[in-house]
Amino acid sequence: MAQAGIHGLMGIVLSNLNFKKEWLLLGVIFGNMLPDLDAVAVAYFTLTGGDTNGLHRTWSHSLLFIASLVVIIYIISKIRKVPRIRNFGIGLGFGMLTHVLMDMIIWFRGVEVFWPFYPEINFWHFFIPPEWWYNKFEFALEFGMMALYLLFLSRFALKHGTDIEYLPMIKTLIWFEIFLFITFLILVYTWSGFYFIFGGVYILSLFLILYTTIRMRKTIESI
Ligand SMILES: [Zn+2]
Repeated sequence: MAQAGIHGLMGIVLSNLNFKKEWLLLGVIFGNMLPDLDAVAVAYFTLTGGDTNGLHRTWSHSLLFIASLVVIIYIISKIRKVPRIRNFGIGLGFGMLTHVLMDMIIWFRGVEVFWPFYPEINFWHFFIPPEWWYNKFEFALEFGMMALYLLFLSRFALKHGTDIEYLPMIKTLIWFEIFLFITFLILVYTWSGFYFIFGGVYILSLFLILYTTIRMRKTIESI
């Protein structure tokens, strides 16, 4: 993290750089959100009583992992002779790098960019974030930002007349995320045990917006 929705919106902002090759921008936006799927590993180890140390903002945010993923996708595109898969992989690498950079700049925590060779890099080690924000508002905001990201996608779909048949579903998802945003805005300040439920719905929401991103690739291609 930062909020997955912010990463997605960052991907949309990057569309100004003119990623005109097929599936390239799709890769950039998808890659901007992908690294935080390491939350699944955190959730698994939390639920099974394992050690969650060193799981978040480590391997999935490292140059080694990003480069390996790009190379693997490149090889797949060569074997299958589908150039757009290569475009997707290059975009993915670029998007993931942007994600890592944004985490380091705006998330007030360290990132293990050089995992597993070097400890985390933390620009914020001297800074203590306000209590109302840290592990509270920033978590509730996840859902608000996801709603905003989906809203942007739906606006582009309307503007370009793409993926129209998916719009009712995306509208439902936006309301779902707004509902979660308001609910957690209350829970984070009133219930110290909110974290477990948060983890579950956060992962569900992250999968939903990653799926929606791929599902709306025609819209993304038209941005
Ligand atoms: Zn992250």
